[in-house]
Amino acid sequence: MDSSLVKDNPLLLPLNAERTVYDGFVTVQERDFRLRILLPPDRQLKRAKLQCCWLLKHLLHGYEHIVKQRLQQSADLVTFLLELKTVLEVGLKSRPECSSIPPPQYYSQLIAEMETLGWNKLLFIDTELRTLRLKAEDSSGRQHILTIKLKSKHPAEAPECSADLPLPLATTWTPQSTLQQLHDQFLVVLESLTEFWDVLEEVDGNTWILEPEKPSRSDTMRRIAIGNNVSIKVEVDPRHPKMLPECCLLGAEHVVTPLRNKLNANMHLWNPDSSVLRNLRDVLEIEFPSPATHEKSDFSTECGICYSYRLEAAIPDQVCNDPRCGQPFHQACLYEWLRALPSSRQSFSTVFGECPYCSKPITVKMSAQTS
Ligand SMILES: [Zn+2]
Ligand SMILES: [Zn+2]
Repeated sequence: MDSSLVKDNPLLLPLNAERTVYDGFVTVQERDFRLRILLPPDRQLKRAKLQCCWLLKHLLHGYEHIVKQRLQQSADLVTFLLELKTVLEVGLKSRPECSSIPPPQYYSQLIAEMETLGWNKLLFIDTELRTLRLKAEDSSGRQHILTIKLKSKHPAEAPECSADLPLPLATTWTPQSTLQQLHDQFLVVLESLTEFWDVLEEVDGNTWILEPEKPSRSDTMRRIAIGNNVSIKVEVDPRHPKMLPECCLLGAEHVVTPLRNKLNANMHLWNPDSSVLRNLRDVLEIEFPSPATHEKSDFSTECGICYSYRLEAAIPDQVCNDPRCGQPFHQACLYEWLRALPSSRQSFSTVFGECPYCSKPITVKMSAQTS
């Protein structure tokens, strides 16, 4: 009996000479499950006890009565284990999430790949060894992070990769690919974006950025302060960072109009060999207030209705057009304020009313995302 037990279950071994304690693994669908069998001194299967690993327990959940019945009725341990494995096969099929737990070779493969790549590139790995964060440095010395989510069938199935980039991260993967190759592909992508980051770093370092508050490597938009309640929103193309970006001037009409005229008249002077900041200065014929000469509070004026700067994500970007007033408001604040006044008039999503500060006419259009 014991010889066929060993043949069927080579990983399950008796721990004592009496052969009353067996410990090891049973293999089902190329997966090993930890199991310990405790038999009474007379080795009667009826009174045997099973100790299972959590995964085995999970798989047998709902089949406990069958296991108990088989223990009562099986002729011997070999037969019982054969029946147990059948139950496990059914369990595996009905619980696909258990099949997603990687087989042991997954871990040896992962460790071998990390050895090749170098452990010093590993920033983080989760407890299940499924999510890795690798560091990478581009040729300008910027530090980047590549997040890799490995599939349980790694390396047969392509891992999911993500990073803080302005473009989707496209990588290629074959079953022969390695983490080292993935890391190399990431470095190539980083190199293709260094000019984009150079352009934006120059802007970030020499101007006051009103939005986003803390630009990330994926942010292509900058709202740059030009003066009190005047700013320009630029959208830099990551593929062509030195080309004329999409520009939008924001602020009171009397300040914005002359700037818009300059932009239109000088657009042809845009020089793609020069930086975006240099070009913006030349085209608008202005000097941007810089952190060296100004405080951010000079530009981040609070809303005249709620007296705060941030309202959720919004900043006060509605400005009274009267040159002597120029008071900024949040769009939502001004909209609610004007709508509540009987003197205001609404046409579709636009409300016409009076500035709460100077009583001159002011209008606000409600954008789709705010209600
Ligand atoms: Zn407000
Ligand atoms: Zn006003």
